[in-house]
Amino acid sequence: MTCSSTTQKNIAYIGVGSNLDQPLEHIKQAAEALDQIPQTQLLALSPLYQSKAIGPGEQSDYINAAAALETQLPPLELLHQLQAIENKQGRKRGPVRWVARTLDLDLLLFNNITLETEELTIPHPRMTERNFVLFPLRDLAILLSPTLALPDGRSIVDLAQNSNDDGIYLSSS
Ligand code: ATP
Ligand code: CA
Ligand code: CA
Repeated sequence: MTCSSTTQKNIAYIGVGSNLDQPLEHIKQAAEALDQIPQTQLLALSPLYQSKAIGPGEQSDYINAAAALETQLPPLELLHQLQAIENKQGRKRGPVRWVARTLDLDLLLFNNITLETEELTIPHPRMTERNFVLFPLRDLAILLSPTLALPDGRSIVDLAQNSNDDGIYLSSS
């Protein structure tokens, strides 16, 4: 790796969600932990949203947010840091997807890159279908980078505008 690439400042957007064991506390704790990742700073945390769970069975509502990070880490290292935070905050992994969880941190966007490996896909493959991702991400875009777009050019603000608002509310705190 060249010297210039190790000092490169990348912008990453993270989807944050929790619907288990005091979700609000988990979101706040996660924001602090994101800022503590090596060579990484939290630029902003979006407003919080409450949304209906999409997973199996009866589940509590989610609290969702998005975070903007500036980081010198490459994408896969950043993913591993996100997973370490999830684990530290009690995330349990089992065979069934989309079950209730204390914390989910998804790497949504990383600069303007596209990446498809077994372990990591960027942009996050399901982000454009999810209002609970697009709404907080739209709020960050308006704050930090109104022209924020997917690598294919689709605007985050437009995607959020065209998304339904079923089952999602701004959370009061
Ligand atoms: P979804 O991916 O639909 O939001 P989920 O967040 O519940 O579901 P997880 O169990 O948290 O899914 O993650 C499953 C796997 O997804 C992880 O082991 C990780 O390697 C992989 N993955 C691929 N791309 C990404 C990404 N952009 N961000 C986070 N994880 C990713
Ligand atoms: Ca997820
Ligand atoms: Ca995840």
